[in-house]
Amino acid sequence: MLNIALFGPPGAGKGTQSEKLIRQYNLFYISTGDLLRKELSEKTALGREAEDIIKSGGLVPDEIIVQIIEKTITENPSANGFLFDGFPRTYVQAYILEGLMIKLNTSLTCLINLQVPEAVSVERLLHRGKVSGRADDNETVIRNRLREYSEKTVPVLRYYEERGVHYEIDATAPIEAVNEKLTAIIQEELSKRLFNVVIFGYPGSGRGSQGRALAEHHGLEYVATGPMLEAEIAADTPVGRKVKELYESGQLVPDDIVVPLIERRLEKTKGAKGFIFKGFPRTLVQSYILDGLLKKHGSAISKVIEIEVPTLELIRRLDERSKTDRCMPYDSSTAKIVKRLQEHETKTVPVIRKYNQLHEVTKIDGLGPFEDVFEKVSAEIVDGLKRMR
Ligand code: AMP
Repeated sequence: MLNIALFGPPGAGKGTQSEKLIRQYNLFYISTGDLLRKELSEKTALGREAEDIIKSGGLVPDEIIVQIIEKTITENPSANGFLFDGFPRTYVQAYILEGLMIKLNTSLTCLINLQVPEAVSVERLLHRGKVSGRADDNETVIRNRLREYSEKTVPVLRYYEERGVHYEIDATAPIEAVNEKLTAIIQEELSKRLFNVVIFGYPGSGRGSQGRALAEHHGLEYVATGPMLEAEIAADTPVGRKVKELYESGQLVPDDIVVPLIERRLEKTKGAKGFIFKGFPRTLVQSYILDGLLKKHGSAISKVIEIEVPTLELIRRLDERSKTDRCMPYDSSTAKIVKRLQEHETKTVPVIRKYNQLHEVTKIDGLGPFEDVFEKVSAEIVDGLKRMR
């Protein structure tokens, strides 16, 4: 999700710029001022409670703000993102916003301060008062709103400065020029985002060959634990020697060997557009580990894909592969193949079930030619990338 808060004194141009940004980035617009005016015009209990405060230019109590915002957010959970105008307006509201974002499993991408001197604010608001007829756009109330802004709202900036998600722009420039500056900031934020795909499937489903081809095609990094462990064995590193021993005795490689390898891989590929994970997470424990590893990079899982192939076809493919030079040490006998299928069933299927509840798993029919399956998964990745940027 792309969640932006536009900040600045009354008259900074937040409403005008919001109109453009919601169209450009397909965002859901939340203006607490508009929501309150609606309550006022519909003469709801909430509106009546807030009326006198709004007319005098004061700030409405947080309880009221939480009610109107929570309602709007929870009614639109599948929004591409939210654009907040006029919220958060107090330091306390910054915490409220954080809590609301956590509820949606997301966070505020950034807060952008539209800076204008007080004289410009007053001049713009007086002009707007003549055109729009907003009752609070008269000189006495304007002065009061600006006082409230400098006393109660400006401290909000500190909250976001401390978290490193705060930008300042000069908003005295013409509308188009301000819009360009805003979109440059948003693009910069978007380019920092990682697109992370987890690809599941039973052994023999083609997840490995698809994963590798998809990563190359979409400029993503392919992270597959199997090949990473094989590389350690080939390089005869201390880890490789340990893994070889485990493989030979038919034991699983423990998490404390796998995790540092993935951690290093994520560190090494700074500046990547995103990752395709294959063969990890394999267990529920590993799914928590992956959340933690991605969180360290300020990121999370973007898409989960499962390639489905009927069991008999899996066995046929694995058996065929075992007779070629692509035979893996763990495919060399029927007993080993069955063991791997069972491992997936008991340990990995619960992970897919968990993701199904959290992220919605996209199921792809893995029968048919490689290219057809590739096209189907590829379309999902293109769609995911488009939604994100
Ligand atoms: P605006 O349209 O954003 O200028 O808001 C108009 C009026 O609504 C403000 O002067 C406040 O009285 C009230 N208001 C809007 N948003 C908030 C908020 N987040 N917290 C408290 N009061 C608000």
